[in-house]
Amino acid sequence: MPKRTRIALVSEHASPLALLGGEDAGGQNVYVDELGRHLAALGYAVDVFTRRDREDRPEVVEWAPGARVVHLAAGRAAFLPKDRLWALMPAFQRSFLRFMLRTGARYDLLHGHFWMSGWVVARLRCRLGIPAVQLFHATGMTKRRHQGEADTSPDERVAVEREVVHAVDRVIAQCPAEYNELIEEYGADPARLSIIPAAVNTGRFFPVPQAEARQAVGLPADGPVVVYVGRMLPRKDVGNLLRAAALLRERDLPVRVLLVGGDDTPGSLAACEVAHLRELARDLGVADRVIFAGQQQPDRLRLYYAAGDVAVTTPWYEPFGLTPLEAMACGRPVVGSAVGGLTFTIQDGVTGVLVPPRDPAALAAALAHLLGRPALRAAMGEAARARVEREFTWTTTARRTALLYEALLAERHGAPPLRERAVGAEGE
Ligand code: UDP
Repeated sequence: MPKRTRIALVSEHASPLALLGGEDAGGQNVYVDELGRHLAALGYAVDVFTRRDREDRPEVVEWAPGARVVHLAAGRAAFLPKDRLWALMPAFQRSFLRFMLRTGARYDLLHGHFWMSGWVVARLRCRLGIPAVQLFHATGMTKRRHQGEADTSPDERVAVEREVVHAVDRVIAQCPAEYNELIEEYGADPARLSIIPAAVNTGRFFPVPQAEARQAVGLPADGPVVVYVGRMLPRKDVGNLLRAAALLRERDLPVRVLLVGGDDTPGSLAACEVAHLRELARDLGVADRVIFAGQQQPDRLRLYYAAGDVAVTTPWYEPFGLTPLEAMACGRPVVGSAVGGLTFTIQDGVTGVLVPPRDPAALAAALAHLLGRPALRAAMGEAARARVEREFTWTTTARRTALLYEALLAERHGAPPLRERAVGAEGE
């Protein structure tokens, strides 16, 4: 049997094992989980390297056939917000090399996720003499533009991203908006960029009869329900949805707003955001219509999407956005803001409606339009599910990623032997 190609997915803060919907656990965790599993199913040996953030985690966890999570020591084995991890990256890199030295693990290719892991894989690429691929998931430039003073990213972030863009063999953009941003704002070479969209697990997210779903999540069978699923962060602008709900109520179109996501950890960003949203709902006079369902595990989420008539996500910006795809896979139309990846995944007028961000009146108008037209919603829901099945499955994402890996590995064929001695030197 030919030797399996060994891939190191490096994802410093986002582990496939983490709970989703909390402060720093979101789309990247899902992405690394699904990509890792599907690459392993294609025959790759996959190790995901992530920072050890709990004392009780073993160093190595087999989490899917052919795929492992490796917890690397870097700083305290406790949760730290991701914006505080930058200083720990040299230690994280050293732990990676020590792990290789101690266990004899070897890799054929590195794939970094998020900017800090990008910095790590750019360095490991030189030390190990193997190709490196990078996927940013979000960029510092966009974050800074939208969040200004509120952006808590380390000052070095954008400069590091620029360095990584030029240091790795290939950067994956998840949608045309990110592709353009990498070229225009980071000076990326188009020849070293590939567009590979993320996807949705269609076996987990599928249509469920609405009455059944509402019963399962404890909602009355009648009356319109609008659902938001995702992290509770200012940039997701869930307040925009509450404002739209207040406008609809003024027009005698009361809707229930079902909010899924959050984090009960006192003092966490998500807990603060939920407290703020509760207050806002009270001030707007819609508190009796808003249901805070809290954080939910992925295998129950289809019930929440399906309980809604329409799914809504109106962030200020969104690098890609998995939740619209999940809602679409559950056969629900999505109203989303016309930003970033949402302009790519949501087909305006076909699978949902695009509205400007920070515009409650436009959102209210789009909701009134859809909620008054059951046949249109059903048609959009069907088109949404069909679009997902056609274009956004993890099998496709993993196959396209594998093709990219194979192209890079073929280019390396005949390159000088791996500089394995460098590993030994670091580990001592
Ligand atoms: N999610 C979840 N439980 C929750 C809230 C969110 O599992 O309570 C998942 C959601 O299904 C999606 C991911 O977290 O897969 C969020 O990804 P997205 O790309 O939409 O946004 P991000 O969090 O990366 O900004």
